Amino acid sequence: MKPASFDYVRAESAAHAVQALAAAGGDGKVIAGGQSLMPMMNFRLVKPSVLVDINHISGLDAVQDRGDKISIGALVRHRITATDTLIAKNIPVLHDAMKHVAHLTVRNRGTFCGSLCHADPAAEMPMMSLLLNGIIHILSPRGERTLAAQDFFVGSLVTALEPDELVTEIEIDMLPAGTGWGFEEFARRHGDYALASAAVTMQRQNGVAVGVRVGLMGVGEMPMRLPRIEAMLEGCEVSSGLIGEAVDALRTELEPNSDLHASADYRRHLAGVLARRAMTAAWARAEKDAV
Ligand SMILES: Cc1cc2nc3c(=O)[nH]c(=O)nc-3n(C[C@H](O)[C@H](O)[C@H](O)COP(=O)(O)OP(=O)(O)OC[C@H]3O[C@@H](n4cnc5c(N)ncnc54)[C@H](O)[C@@H]3O)c2cc1C
Repeated sequence: MKPASFDYVRAESAAHAVQALAAAGGDGKVIAGGQSLMPMMNFRLVKPSVLVDINHISGLDAVQDRGDKISIGALVRHRITATDTLIAKNIPVLHDAMKHVAHLTVRNRGTFCGSLCHADPAAEMPMMSLLLNGIIHILSPRGERTLAAQDFFVGSLVTALEPDELVTEIEIDMLPAGTGWGFEEFARRHGDYALASAAVTMQRQNGVAVGVRVGLMGVGEMPMRLPRIEAMLEGCEVSSGLIGEAVDALRTELEPNSDLHASADYRRHLAGVLARRAMTAAWARAEKDAV
């Protein structure tokens, strides 16, 4: 398959990119890694009249220490996110999650922010942005704004971005030292999109769990945080019995779709199995009174 014809703009700066998007009158698309956009164009699922290439803009390819947060620029490739030592040391749950993302060639080109903008409900990075309280920085001809990851995803493959807006970076939480974490995923083949994944982090203070975070993906139209399930574990000594209760409650919150790959019942069951493993691992890894 070949894409429909389009004009090409090589953006020299972020300001140039958003001007070009505005000039396209809602019919332009940013291309970052092209790993999701190009297949969609080749299948003619999207037919932008203008492609705005951001790959030559300087300053967008850095992972930066921002105190209690880490910034990931719009041109940071999956390979960099997966191997960066700042991320590995301070957000081990993300370091682990990145091992499940796609294959070598896709990882060399695909970008963290491109994955957010593509908003696939079975992609790891959107869920990690929710788990890590991501703040997404957005530029348009009207200026800059930020959106919490919680407000960024509005549906399957749909975000709150306007057609003339460019994501320039995301800031995500560094985890406090000693935070326990668990990441569990099931895909038919390594590197495929997951049927479901669960991510959990928590600290251990005076024998109880604090700062509990629970995220899921692949079991709904969007990745999700589960505040009710987090509250069930928060302030409690985590036992297998309590995890069992939390998993039962979690399953009642899910309304997955049935599709070619799995039935809704199977996905709901799988999500519970993965969440149980991730909660168990997070509690086991949490260092006693490390906070
Ligand atoms: C075979 C294969 C397997 C894959 N497996 C996985 C997997 O297991 N897990 C996973 O998470 N992903 C997977 N992916 C997707 C991959 O991670 C993509 O790289 C990612 O979804 C999109 O990133 P990109 O930089 O390539 O974005 P592009 O393809 O360039 O763009 C995607 C969309 O985002 C928009 N966009 C990109 N950057 C910006 C920006 N800065 N501001 C505004 N809009 C922007 C584009 O206009 C487009 O609409 C797979 C892809 C392939 C081809």
